Amino acid sequence: MSISQLARSIVESPTLKLNETAALLRDKGEPVIHLGGGEPKTRAPIDAIINCTALLNTGEVRYAPADGIPQLKKAVIRYTEEHYHRLVSPGHVVVSNGAKHALMMALYAILEPKDEVIFPAPFWVSYPEMVKLAGGVGVPVRAEDGTFQPTVKEIAEAVGSYTKAIILNSPNNPSGVMYSEEFVAGVVELCEKKKLWLLMDDTYNRLVFDGRAPTNCYRYAADLTESSQLIVFNCISKMYAMTGFRIGWAVGNKEVSAAMANIQSQQTSGPSVPAQWAAVGALNGVQSAIDGLRRTLENNRNILVTHLKSFSGVRVTKPNGTFYTFPDFSAYNKDSNTLAKFLLEKVRVVTVPGKDFGMEGYLRISFCGAIKEITEGMERIKWALDPDAPNELYLGDRKLVRDWR
Ligand code: PMP
Repeated sequence: MSISQLARSIVESPTLKLNETAALLRDKGEPVIHLGGGEPKTRAPIDAIINCTALLNTGEVRYAPADGIPQLKKAVIRYTEEHYHRLVSPGHVVVSNGAKHALMMALYAILEPKDEVIFPAPFWVSYPEMVKLAGGVGVPVRAEDGTFQPTVKEIAEAVGSYTKAIILNSPNNPSGVMYSEEFVAGVVELCEKKKLWLLMDDTYNRLVFDGRAPTNCYRYAADLTESSQLIVFNCISKMYAMTGFRIGWAVGNKEVSAAMANIQSQQTSGPSVPAQWAAVGALNGVQSAIDGLRRTLENNRNILVTHLKSFSGVRVTKPNGTFYTFPDFSAYNKDSNTLAKFLLEKVRVVTVPGKDFGMEGYLRISFCGAIKEITEGMERIKWALDPDAPNELYLGDRKLVRDWR
């Protein structure tokens, strides 16, 4: 059988694969604790459900404009005005199947074969593969000082004649770090100077802690005309806990938006219409759920970080947002795949290897689950790794005995 070289070059999403593995183990009755997840566990806002079911109840669900129903574009325009203080029109908005697909459409619309796309490491696992799908080459940039934020100079040094775009994701999956305002300002300026596209992935920017305000990249743009190459991505997935609805959007100049809409019209004919109506409900409805989720996550973060700090060998950077931590476990094992496998096998805790995010020796540990799961998961990990831990541990009524050192 002949499978294309491109298809063979794409690696499976490690995070989605882990969800499957965890579900399979749970089905077998294994007491799995999933600290690898990428979605909040709260319910979708009631306004989203009401709007979606109202359409379903009519029994008439038809094709709609490929770049989004007008009502959702209107809600996105209002959202952009409220949260970015920027007035855009329907021609600037493309609604897609999640922020992921909106990013994909943008990459298809801007990349020539072998064009390079720069992103700081650690990076969201999908960036390299998405860039590859669109014919480009991903160029991760790692901070030399060992932090999760390179300097603008380090980013500028990676820019070459093939560079077409930079992707910034802040707060960041997997590190939870929010890039400094100076850094974002510097990258916006760099992109304007070098005529590069800047894809600002704001998927988590409402989920920020310690009284921080989300970063508004437009503040730093000198050019806000139709020649601006800044595209901002958002979605309902994380802030409204609506991952399964698969709705996200891009706001960019009219030319790139039209190109993206055109590609999308041939590729999917646009996202599911009931899901778009749900998004309209979420965006226009009562907004208290976001604040509630943010507070819950902040509390979960504090608990998880306290646990991580109790490990003698672990280095942890306190996340400013998202629901991920990215601690350095290299003192226990330098190979993050082996370590994650070990933790799943021995104590049934799911974590994600840092290697997939471009940093070996780290693990991504999520705090979007229940406190009980976070606490028990961390206790199990500690037991598995701490040579001074007692020899036995109970998982429910199952007794585990350490047979490793
Ligand atoms: N960007 C980042 C950084 C993400 O972590 C995710 C989801 N894990 C996405 C985009 C995609 O979001 P969506 O589910 O809306 O496609």
